[in-house]
Amino acid sequence: MLKIGYMNLDDPVAIISPNGSRNLGSFNGSAGLIMLGRFNLDEVTPSEIKMAMDQRRTRSALGFSTVGGKLEDLTETAKMAAQEGRLMEVELPLTDGTADLVKAIKNSGATLSVRVKPDAVEDLRSLARELKEAGADLLHLDLRGLGPMAPKIVKKISDGGAPPLMIRCDVGDFQDARNILSMGADMISLSDDADPEFVAWLTETLKKFHDLVGWYNAPKHICSGGDLRGMAFCCPPVKNCPLLGALKKVGISPEEFVDRKLALTRGTPLEPGDGTCFGSLAWCCKITKPCFMRDAVLDRHGIAPDEYMRLKKKLSEDLLKA
Ligand code: SF4
Ligand code: SF4
Repeated sequence: MLKIGYMNLDDPVAIISPNGSRNLGSFNGSAGLIMLGRFNLDEVTPSEIKMAMDQRRTRSALGFSTVGGKLEDLTETAKMAAQEGRLMEVELPLTDGTADLVKAIKNSGATLSVRVKPDAVEDLRSLARELKEAGADLLHLDLRGLGPMAPKIVKKISDGGAPPLMIRCDVGDFQDARNILSMGADMISLSDDADPEFVAWLTETLKKFHDLVGWYNAPKHICSGGDLRGMAFCCPPVKNCPLLGALKKVGISPEEFVDRKLALTRGTPLEPGDGTCFGSLAWCCKITKPCFMRDAVLDRHGIAPDEYMRLKKKLSEDLLKA
């Protein structure tokens, strides 16, 4: 369902187990990822971390969290993570040298998550961009206790250009998870105190949603407050609407947007659209918005709803990359 570096995850939920004290087996592989520890690299060696990981019997992908250590400790640990196919997470001192440290760890081959405490950072957007450019595979942010502010922060960071985001947040039901994921988060992380039955239910529901809709963290339309990925569902900019603000953020003109969308969908299953508002599926809305005109085109061309959304996902990635 989700690929982060060399990690293939069954679902976008991570369980964070700081002390490894709980019987993680009770999650029975329902979480996509289990993160162990906060291993202090000034005190433990890579082989001790490896041993702690090897003792865990779980069907979930495994990772570990670290703190401290000198550059040499970090790169040795990263080599072990790469060899074992584990996710390595670091909490780095946020100084001018952060990007260089990330690059050095990445050069050792590990799939790397960087954990950041948002209140310790003045400009989270810039830091996220810097980490992305340095090659971090994941940015792990703790947004617990922020209520409705949390999705807004996710959108701001995601729109500014960030590595895939793993968000620690308060999730009590499916909608809480969707509120974070639909704003640009790729994963959510929960404490190992979470009820295993709830985690199993949540991950199953997210997987079913993904199978049905084809894009588990699909954005909202831009005019419904969605992040920049929502441009994939936008109409041509023919009126004054929030798309104009979104285009300003990505630094392209309305004309360039039209050209880019047409070029990216030409010759693809999103090109046709006889009978739709703008003559091509390129401009059509999200599948969750009922529309018999779009659905008639999808039927005519044998495009399943989840396939339509996968094509829109690719379009959103290409639009933001171009
Ligand atoms: S272009 Fe259409 S979908 Fe996009 S923000 Fe404007 S009205 Fe909404
Ligand atoms: S045809 Fe339907 S899906 Fe396409 S743009 Fe118009 S309202 Fe949206």
